[in-house]
Amino acid sequence: MSQQFCDVALPVPLDTTFTYKVDGAPVVAGGRVIVPFREKRLQGIVLRLHDEAPGENVKLKSVIAALDSTPVLDEGLLALGTWIARYYLAPLGEVYRCMLPLGAEFKQVVAYSISERGTEALYQSAEVGSSRRSHLDPERQMAEYAVLDYLAEGELVREATLRAATGTTRETLRSLVAKKWIVREDLSTARDARRTMKIASLKEDEPSPQDANDGACREPRAGKLNANQQKIVTHLRAAEGRLPVDELRQLSVPKTTLATLVRRGVVEILEEPAAFAVPAMKQRNTIDFPFTPAQQQALERMNRSVEARQFQAILLHGVTGSGKTAVYLAAMRQVLNAGRGSILLVPEIGLTPRVAADLYGIFGEQVAILHSSLSDDERAEQWHRLSRGEARIAVGTRSAVFAPVQDLALIIVDEEQDHSYKQDEAPRYHARDVAAVRAKGLKATVVFGSATPSLESYHNAISGKYALLRLPDRVQQRPLPEVELIDMREEFQASGKEHLLSRRLIEEVTLRIERGEQAMILLNRRGYSAFVMCRACGDTIQCRDCAIALTHHKREHKLMCHYCGYQQAIPKVCPKCGSDYVQFLGTGSEKLEDMLHAAFPTARIGRMDRDTVRGHHDFERILSAFTAGELDLLVGTQMIAKGHDVHGVTLVGVVGADTALSLPDFRAAERTFQLLTQVAGRAGRGSSPGRVVLQTYFPEHYAVQFAAHHDFEGFYEKELRFRGWMHYPPFTSVANVIVRSDQQELALRYAGILGKWFEGERHEGVRVMGPAAAPIIRLKRDYRYHFLLKSASRERLNSLLRVMLRHAAEQHVPRSNLVVDVDAISLL
Ligand SMILES: [Zn+2]
Ligand SMILES: [Zn+2]
Repeated sequence: MSQQFCDVALPVPLDTTFTYKVDGAPVVAGGRVIVPFREKRLQGIVLRLHDEAPGENVKLKSVIAALDSTPVLDEGLLALGTWIARYYLAPLGEVYRCMLPLGAEFKQVVAYSISERGTEALYQSAEVGSSRRSHLDPERQMAEYAVLDYLAEGELVREATLRAATGTTRETLRSLVAKKWIVREDLSTARDARRTMKIASLKEDEPSPQDANDGACREPRAGKLNANQQKIVTHLRAAEGRLPVDELRQLSVPKTTLATLVRRGVVEILEEPAAFAVPAMKQRNTIDFPFTPAQQQALERMNRSVEARQFQAILLHGVTGSGKTAVYLAAMRQVLNAGRGSILLVPEIGLTPRVAADLYGIFGEQVAILHSSLSDDERAEQWHRLSRGEARIAVGTRSAVFAPVQDLALIIVDEEQDHSYKQDEAPRYHARDVAAVRAKGLKATVVFGSATPSLESYHNAISGKYALLRLPDRVQQRPLPEVELIDMREEFQASGKEHLLSRRLIEEVTLRIERGEQAMILLNRRGYSAFVMCRACGDTIQCRDCAIALTHHKREHKLMCHYCGYQQAIPKVCPKCGSDYVQFLGTGSEKLEDMLHAAFPTARIGRMDRDTVRGHHDFERILSAFTAGELDLLVGTQMIAKGHDVHGVTLVGVVGADTALSLPDFRAAERTFQLLTQVAGRAGRGSSPGRVVLQTYFPEHYAVQFAAHHDFEGFYEKELRFRGWMHYPPFTSVANVIVRSDQQELALRYAGILGKWFEGERHEGVRVMGPAAAPIIRLKRDYRYHFLLKSASRERLNSLLRVMLRHAAEQHVPRSNLVVDVDAISLL
């Protein structure tokens, strides 16, 4: 007998699952269902089916619809979700929602009908006239009565229709629901998101024997056709009677011609599932050049590991320009040839159309590319292709770690130190660490690749947890660039003025322009001026919603917040004291570009930062122009440091990349070392050797020194010693607990509740610091206080956090006011 109940994980911020009656719906564990939840319908994942009836007084609701006859999350992925929920203290339903990019297959539909009370109100308003309404905002009242009037027939009307017909706002509808004048109903349902295409098909009769005998051209049954109609029919005949409608539209005939043929019964239009078309691309032989001995060894080691079908984690530490990508692709091809599957994760910015084209060039239809500019429908399509085994390779950013690749044998995490792998909203998982857990469950191989591995991964490698493979040399024996440090304090003393560009850097850039070579200049701050200050009262202009100085963007004539996106006009006088001594201070990439134009009037200069790059295509466009030699100089933020391979670059200038060293963050040195190494690695990737001019105010800082000497081991050794002394990762686990509220008293009160509890609670082996104001005390309207927890024992840390969450719930601290960030990457 089939089971009567199912437990469902729902995407709500609650650490619990919900039981529903099955009532004959074809429910499967690991499949999706639509269920009623409070006033809504939600889509959830069935965790298990059972017959354990709840208590007698518990009234259970029934499943509304089952979406899947086979699981969308197999046992492995279900277990992975459970692990994430436990490890990151995230609600299970939210984890599963994040794992399944199938939002397109759930259609949210809300409808409204008038209530008895609403009908009464409508009649009264008609009788009493406008006199009774005068105490209310008349415009708002008009809007409300317009809705009631539209619903007066008593029908259930969909929100979209209602809003289109009456021009009403969500707010008005909410207010009417609150007054119980109308009733809101959630009718959300499953939706088929499969892309379809329209096919024109010729409706010819079966050829009769006579036709075959006399061989005459048959007339379509509807009689004579005009020239345009004949053209379409001829084309269809040539294509065995079937062509996509889009293709027929290319013919130079009026649009109406096809419609006429349909009306006359000559042609019919069929809707069919669209086949996935691999985008047209040039074939590139990215992996078919001879490997260096180190590349060959790395590849063989990976292949052996995959074949062994045992869990193995490998750190591939290769200097910039050592050909890591070629090794990845060769390993993935090997896996594909064995009929198995692989995943390649790349950082946010790494997945350009060019990279995608390369991948299609090598793997054709076997690759599914998951990037942020896909529509929901496209994302769902790629997901199903993988799930059905039609594609065996998934390439994508963070969430591609959940791709339903069949017989997954290999996961590669490129630039594993990149912070875009950590999700900065719930569930706050780290894709690199999830990749390791997933590989372990499948007895698969996971490879972490980087020129500048994270301290965590490097520590795992030298302690023997991961295998360590090195690519110590650049391909074709190209040397690493020579780095020259410029002490900006000396520069100031020598010239008596603050300069953004040192004399040395100007000299070197001049030389490159004369020689027709290219240069990149990094300034890791966007905008024109970093902040706006009043000379009279000393105040800087801050964001309305964050405790952050606004940045001046000259071209847009705006002040902007880089944290929440708030914008405002540039004030003429100080908003605080009214003085007009408002000054713009500090320099961002926009201003640097202007300064370079002034210093090198003939140079062609491009800029790459979040203001000029709004999507993958902008990124690709600027990079292509630079690669093609259409630009002499490229300035930009850390975006220019990420993995590009532009052979003409012989100079990299670094301006103000060490400011991060003064941030209150234990990862500041690691970040600076990584950024400096990555950007320096852009120089000298072609036949001419490269040079780096690194301007700094901290020339003796070890992060700067080791980066200048390309000394990875030296940096890691020193940084690991510091981390050990300070009890920071990788020697301890950390969690950042943020208490937030848009009302400061509430934030303080919640922080006080937790603070008191931490004080009173025994928590052996866990060090708790706080509560303290977060370094950014106000962000996106919320006031923020935090606790930093450190422990050598992950288990103790997590169990303390669990008890803390329970206590917070008992004390009525809403879960949405608490952020628990396990393995926090940023403490700001
Ligand atoms: Zn002022
Ligand atoms: Zn802001």
